[in-house]
Amino acid sequence: MTTQTGLPLFVLGRGSDPHSETGVDCPGELPPASDPRLVERARRAKAALGDRLFVLGHHYQRDEVIQFADVTGDSFKLAQQAAARPQAEYIVFCGVHFMAESADILTTDAQQVILPDLAAGCSMADMATFDQVEDAWEALEDAGLADRVVPVTYMNSSADIKAFCGRNGGVVCTSSNARRALDWAFEQGEKVLFLPDQHLGRNTAVLEMGMSLDDCVVWNPHRPNGGLTAEQLERARMILWRGHCSVHGRFTAESVDDVRGRVPGVNVLVHPECRHEVVLKADHVGSTEHIITTLREAPAGSAWAVGTELNLVKRLAQMFPDKSVSFLDRTVCYCSTMNRIDLPHLVWALESLASGEVVNRITVDADTAHWARVALDRMLALA
Ligand code: SF4
Repeated sequence: MTTQTGLPLFVLGRGSDPHSETGVDCPGELPPASDPRLVERARRAKAALGDRLFVLGHHYQRDEVIQFADVTGDSFKLAQQAAARPQAEYIVFCGVHFMAESADILTTDAQQVILPDLAAGCSMADMATFDQVEDAWEALEDAGLADRVVPVTYMNSSADIKAFCGRNGGVVCTSSNARRALDWAFEQGEKVLFLPDQHLGRNTAVLEMGMSLDDCVVWNPHRPNGGLTAEQLERARMILWRGHCSVHGRFTAESVDDVRGRVPGVNVLVHPECRHEVVLKADHVGSTEHIITTLREAPAGSAWAVGTELNLVKRLAQMFPDKSVSFLDRTVCYCSTMNRIDLPHLVWALESLASGEVVNRITVDADTAHWARVALDRMLALA
């Protein structure tokens, strides 16, 4: 994976593993955040680019950025939308790094995908590096298990990890189709290695597929043999990678109890990236798109506490003023890497493109893109 800038990798989160889901420092002169003409500048640059430009905005982006999105959605919907616009030469992805990679994989060679701030990574994707996953697979091979294990990766993973799944008979899933992807995987093998979000894997297996918590083990990439014994691995059906979303992982069972105490009759609606005990206590669980639909269809006057990223919850509260929509936790928490895409970065990217300079291009090498596409196509073929 390369960037046009050639700058050294600046890895987010912990450690300094250059193979993790990456971001790098942004080059170039950003306009000052205090410039009162930023909105006008973004508008002018966008208008100058016309149909050559398509701006994608993930649901978790700031309002100041979302206002310039041609389409909003979750990561997979956005990548599909980009692929459906072959006339758009430049795809500016207001989201995080793995999303821009997916867009590059699904779009044509003539389209260039731009991430306005290369430091917009994802802490969850960073928790499963290619080398760690290769090591885990080798350990499963040594234990004589790998040929019975099907790797399944959540969309929120680097292109390397999606390609790993493609090469090894596995599949990609989203939070909307995790159940279908797991059903498919268990038709192919006896066990699943689920990457990188342990919570989505556990919640789907236990709450939707009737497995027990004892069917699940957690593979810790920082411990020899994942911290598991041969017996534990032999017994397990779901081998869950020890990764999580730092935003959804912060909601607790106490958050649910607290809001129920404060807001009588409140409906608790959470994303399946939340911890198992939170999902168990919630009234509804579902993907970002499911959360939006549920609130849209909810009766006027109903009260909702929503466990997902705060930019989206705030926007939903504005969209549905006839309902009471609040954030599940009392403490404000945005996705810090999503929030890196701000107006100055967007203006800088758009003005650079309008002046003929392509900045912050995200490219996935051909072999990785091929195998990642294999895993994505298996997902698309699911009934
Ligand atoms: S909300 Fe969580 S999964 Fe999504 S980009 Fe942020 S850290 Fe990653």
